[in-house]
Amino acid sequence: MKLLIMGRPGAGKGTQAVNIREYYQIPHISTGDMFRAAIKNQTKLGKEAQRYMDQGALVPDEVTIGIVEERLSEPDCQKGFLLDGFPRTIAQAEALDKYLTKNGVQLDAVLDVDVPADILVRRMVGRRVCKNCGATYHVEFNPPKAEGICDVCGKPLIQRADDTEQTAVNRLAVYDKQTAPLLEFYAKKNILKTVNGNQPLSKVFEDIKVVLGD
Ligand code: ADP
Ligand code: AMP
Repeated sequence: MKLLIMGRPGAGKGTQAVNIREYYQIPHISTGDMFRAAIKNQTKLGKEAQRYMDQGALVPDEVTIGIVEERLSEPDCQKGFLLDGFPRTIAQAEALDKYLTKNGVQLDAVLDVDVPADILVRRMVGRRVCKNCGATYHVEFNPPKAEGICDVCGKPLIQRADDTEQTAVNRLAVYDKQTAPLLEFYAKKNILKTVNGNQPLSKVFEDIKVVLGD
């Protein structure tokens, strides 16, 4: 299975990616997670990415395309992969196309988790993530069993630095301008599969399996 998962910021891509990764046994490649790991390790990439992420802006294409191509060339991606949060611009989508064609790879589907913009700021501001294993929760919609503690590994939950109201609003505007045009790009290739992301988490995953032919 070679998949992309798209959707507005906060739509539930990361949450569903964990289900997809486990069900289809494919690596989950999230550019946001890669940048956050680089920030944590204070690498050169991390320092550069942080300047953009703090504003809710996109990290430049040349930086982002480079790290994705490097990751896709690793052996675990040969049998399949799920790209989450990439591509986010037409230039990134074209670079990905070129890379895949060069390597004789075809995407099976592009999932669009569709959620109306007006509920997404609340989803982002209430998001909590595990510092240790990356599991995602929501203070109202998907709370952990014990407040502030990860159900999976027992470590503390934190709020992402970019999950403030102001940055969330900026990220939604950036999506409309730079990322939304990609839906048309993939619709034209007849591989776009839209699922309603404004339903309970388990129902969204059921719908994903249906559109993927399961
Ligand atoms: P994305 O990766 O698209 O930015 P996340 O998967 O991190 O989004 O989800 C954003 C927030 O919304 C998280 O706090 C998550 O727990 C919550 N969430 C995800 N899916 C749903 C859903 N179907 N209903 C309610 N809340 C959800
Ligand atoms: P995410 O974890 O997908 O919500 O991404 C968090 C932030 O990382 C975004 O707001 C961007 O600043 C940056 N980012 C993630 N993926 C990309 C990408 N494909 N292109 C540019 N910036 C990205």
